[in-house]
Amino acid sequence: MNHNESRALYDRALSVIPGGVNSSVRATRPYPFFIDHGDGAYVVDADGNRYLDYVMGYGPLLYGHDPPDPVQAAVQSYASEGPMYGAPTEVEVELAEFVARHVPSVEMTRFVNSGTEATVSAVRLARGYTGREKIVVMQGGYHGAQESTLVEGDPEGAMPSSPGIPSSFAEHTIPVPFNDAGAVEDVFEAHGDDIAAVLTEPILGNTGIVHPVAGYHERLRELTDAHGALLIFDEVITGFRVGGLQCAQGKLGVTPDVTTFGKIVGGGFPVGAIGGRAEIIEEFTPAGEVFQSGTFSGHPVTMAAGYEYLNYAAENDVYDHVNRLADRLRRGITDILADRAPSYTVVGTDSMFKTVFTRRGAPVDGDSGSDADSEDHSLDVCEAGCRQRESCAKYDHCPKTGADVADAEAERWERIFWQEMQEREI
Ligand code: PMP
Repeated sequence: MNHNESRALYDRALSVIPGGVNSSVRATRPYPFFIDHGDGAYVVDADGNRYLDYVMGYGPLLYGHDPPDPVQAAVQSYASEGPMYGAPTEVEVELAEFVARHVPSVEMTRFVNSGTEATVSAVRLARGYTGREKIVVMQGGYHGAQESTLVEGDPEGAMPSSPGIPSSFAEHTIPVPFNDAGAVEDVFEAHGDDIAAVLTEPILGNTGIVHPVAGYHERLRELTDAHGALLIFDEVITGFRVGGLQCAQGKLGVTPDVTTFGKIVGGGFPVGAIGGRAEIIEEFTPAGEVFQSGTFSGHPVTMAAGYEYLNYAAENDVYDHVNRLADRLRRGITDILADRAPSYTVVGTDSMFKTVFTRRGAPVDGDSGSDADSEDHSLDVCEAGCRQRESCAKYDHCPKTGADVADAEAERWERIFWQEMQEREI
């Protein structure tokens, strides 16, 4: 495959865009391939190479790169008619009604422009509604690029996980291990009156994938209820994907107070949303006192795309179909693993999937599900450094570069699998 054009674009990008990309995860090594266009299940890069796309925009593209006709028609029509006004339109009401009809916890929704904006607003809402400041989050969870949740640590103390975040934010955030009910019980015992909310992905999707153990979310529900705190499910990934239109909360049978959405709910356009019981969501200005606002919020093109997207799913057998495809994918990868590297694991549910390149089996908490084993690119270091990977195999760490040999091996396998999947078209 020739990547000259991508490489040239990356070089140009590096001088005007930090790291050459507008979202850090896109900085794949040694350089990202720049996309020219999408085509069904495929993307075609700037050099004309065609790839089967397992990423699908990191989640929003339920229908691949060619959305159904009603979505395309609505997008064209709304884009040509304005495309935005800074005043309300009917289609945002339709989308909010749709969400309220289908998602168990939602009576009202405020639309914003990204998953990050949704979780920022949800945290502010929980603090404003309860008059408390502390937020409990899961180690290994991700809620976007926001100050209150970009933390590392444990119940004893948290630190910002990025420079630029005042440590005072982390002082109000309590990270706990996912699936450890005892840890949350202890935290409520110590800080119960100060906790505004427990914020968690119902299934950890950014690490892992980690499924809740039986009774875990039920226990979070009991504890938050007992202490007057809110339970917030971050369904930015799982929303309108796991559990279909009822989302993960419907599938798991636990109803949070507030739910954050993103990705699919905008039909491929920038979106976020905060939904929940009317009494809580109405705390947002102008109905209530918690400030929330946005020039592009409820953008007509996004709302129309989101509405037609979800409506199409409601009227067609979409979830059975995509879940069947994902099942086939998971089974296909499992077969390759059995063939080539039985110590690794495929995890996921519905249309979520991930191959975990560790030898520890399916992850049960955010820590064991960490991507660390497949990242930190030791192989690159080894290859670039001593170029004697074979002889490194007998060491834990490369004697020349100090690189972790198991990590390097995991990385090598990751590459081999992606290549095999493309070739076998799984
Ligand atoms: N919450 C979760 C669970 C996410 O996975 C993400 C992004 N992947 C976000 C929030 C942030 O969403 P966005 O990237 O749209 O800001």
